[in-house]
Amino acid sequence: MSTTYQNLIGGSWVAAQSGKTFDSVSPANHTDVVGTFPSSSAADVDAAVEAAKRAYPAWSMMPAPKRGEILFKVARILAEHKEELSRLMTREMGKVLTEARGDVQEAIDVAYYMAGEGRRLFGQTVPSEMPDKFAMAIRKPIGVVGIITPWNFPVAIPGWKLFPALICGNTAVIKPASDTPACAIRFVELLMEGGIPDGVVNIVTGSGTEVGNALVEHADVKVISFTGHTDTGVEISTRAAKTLKRVSLELGGKNPIVVWEDADLGLALDSAVWSAFGTSGQRCTAASRLIVHRAVHDEFVEALRKRVAGLVLGDGLDDKTDVGPVINETAVERIAAYAAIGRGEADLVIGGEPAREGALGKGSFFQPTIFAEVKPDARIAMEEIFGPVTSVIAVDNWEETVRIVNSVKYGLSTSLFTRDINLAFRSIRDFESGLGYVNHGTIGAEAHLPFGGTKATGNGHREVGQAALDFFSEWKSVYIDYSGKLQRAQIDMEFIDQS
Ligand code: NAP
Repeated sequence: MSTTYQNLIGGSWVAAQSGKTFDSVSPANHTDVVGTFPSSSAADVDAAVEAAKRAYPAWSMMPAPKRGEILFKVARILAEHKEELSRLMTREMGKVLTEARGDVQEAIDVAYYMAGEGRRLFGQTVPSEMPDKFAMAIRKPIGVVGIITPWNFPVAIPGWKLFPALICGNTAVIKPASDTPACAIRFVELLMEGGIPDGVVNIVTGSGTEVGNALVEHADVKVISFTGHTDTGVEISTRAAKTLKRVSLELGGKNPIVVWEDADLGLALDSAVWSAFGTSGQRCTAASRLIVHRAVHDEFVEALRKRVAGLVLGDGLDDKTDVGPVINETAVERIAAYAAIGRGEADLVIGGEPAREGALGKGSFFQPTIFAEVKPDARIAMEEIFGPVTSVIAVDNWEETVRIVNSVKYGLSTSLFTRDINLAFRSIRDFESGLGYVNHGTIGAEAHLPFGGTKATGNGHREVGQAALDFFSEWKSVYIDYSGKLQRAQIDMEFIDQS
């Protein structure tokens, strides 16, 4: 059943001013229209930013513990609706239901974590260098935040951006991915049930070029938090520079799992299958490179081939399905083009084609694909494919391994399977990435540690954990002089003679 959805602006659900709409369809079955959505323009963005600006004084002045109480309620409501939201997500973007539940749970976890921050939002107090003077730094909200999100984590990512923004006292306008607007709108409806005041959270659907650009260029939007493709991030960052916005970019990845000769091969295999083919390989942290010590290479590749041959493709709502569809036909074409490149660069072990048999023909499916004998500098080993494709690279020694791990332009997640504690620590020191795992695949970050990557994966900011508070608040250093006289910092100091 298809539903018509609207934008949320200042607490009211409204159509796009142009009256234009677009549909979101299920990637598992293109005849299943999930909903019809406003195809908004800059005028709708203006209205939403205006609403967020109007809501800002009251929200930013509300004591943070009170904002936290609202977020606690939001977290409870999300938990009550977890199954409904997860099913909608599987229908709209395809990931299997168990993974969709994990996606919603991540938003719930961040909501609880940030709700608790309402009673902390720790600043700093330090001794002053002058007598009778108090020195501290406090967090201040910034203003209206623009949130631009991708389709692959359609609830977790809006959640992990929005909740820290709100607890710090900002108001927000969300522009969700055009492939998953239903998930984002249902998420926002539930937030409103939790008691978020009108105008504090607004959502405007529509294309990246119209709605996204309008948010990025809007003079009254002070912060942009973006997750998506590296090329889009560069464009956003360039445009946002004109209004000196604070911009956080979480971008692509080309993440390796290294399987050393002493690894627990069964565990490494389970983790590689999960990390490479979970969410049909459409995670920024997906293991798209498997760097395997030559001593165990052939055994590992054969075991991997057998496991992948047994994976069941299908609708993520069917509990027999291991791997769901990819997001749309454009993705199928992109992945197929990379598979063709791969055939010229390496050995195809399994897969390599779109999957169109039977019911799969109704949607956008691609066979789980493994390439072996991949050269470290092959295109399939260097570029983000964002689909169920992984490349096995054989290595002989540690120095070569470190060089290959670090040879890509991205730096999001890295993983090493070994029983050697020395190598484990060396991997944490030497692999260039924002997330480092030992004896665990490349996916599965938790809500209370910083999330993000190095190099072309981002611009140095981090999501969630305490790090998110730094991005969504402004530091204000405060000095209170109770000496009753002029005291000049760095000048009126009594130096201790250190000679
Ligand atoms: P995308 O094409 O860059 O789109 C992301 C969002 O940006 C969408 O809402 C899109 O709108 C919007 N957008 C597109 N062009 C824009 C522009 N010129 N100005 C403003 N907004 C614009 O990325 P995607 O395909 O949705 O997501 C996949 C990518 O995200 C992969 O590269 C993946 O690695 C990355 N990702 C990174 C992380 C991380 O934390 N590092 C997490 C998840 C995903 P439309 O949908 O309307 O085009």
